Amino acid sequence: MPETKINKKRLEKLRKIKQEILQGKNCLLYKYRIKNGFYPVIGEGNHQAKIMFIGEAPGLNEAKTGRPFCGKAGKILDELLDSVDIKRQEVYITNIVKDRPPGNRNPTNEEIQAYAPYLDRQIEIIKPKIICTLGNYSTAYIMKKYGLKTQIQGISKIHGRIFETGRQFDNVKIIPLYHPAVAVYNPNMMKTLKKDFKILARIIK
Ligand code: URA
Repeated sequence: MPETKINKKRLEKLRKIKQEILQGKNCLLYKYRIKNGFYPVIGEGNHQAKIMFIGEAPGLNEAKTGRPFCGKAGKILDELLDSVDIKRQEVYITNIVKDRPPGNRNPTNEEIQAYAPYLDRQIEIIKPKIICTLGNYSTAYIMKKYGLKTQIQGISKIHGRIFETGRQFDNVKIIPLYHPAVAVYNPNMMKTLKKDFKILARIIK
């Protein structure tokens, strides 16, 4: 299929997801979104991206703008992408949970289960070759989804490793990474994050 036709089809499907989320379908945090005048954060980037980054849930800046990783953690992510010469426009960035949890708390299991089908559809539409999970929540969800449940460990143990998924999953590679927010609180973590991004850069170049 010609590239423009593929893009049109993907755009239509992604728009449908956007409509459903805007209407609050299966969005456990919809009432909280509306009460606070927040936006859902659906995802952003290239619809034919080779690399998809999956975070946890929107923070305050993201909920105010509807854009993923546009606050402090986003600045770190931008710096990391820059350090390996990957453009933000080349990749696709999203989260498991599409609405900001109250008080920036961690998402609950119930919230992850409710929003995850949207992420599943985004993956199905965009078909990334490499999925970089940012932090423990997206790592655990994605590794389980791709048959790697027995290899799930805390992010401090498995960050920067490349997990091969095999033919039944189109040989997608999973790379768990620390969530960029860790470097907001501890700038020393930047070294580790940059090292892991070099691993990512090595397999795509
Ligand atoms: N943290 C996340 O996990 N996602 C964002 O979009 C912003 C901060």
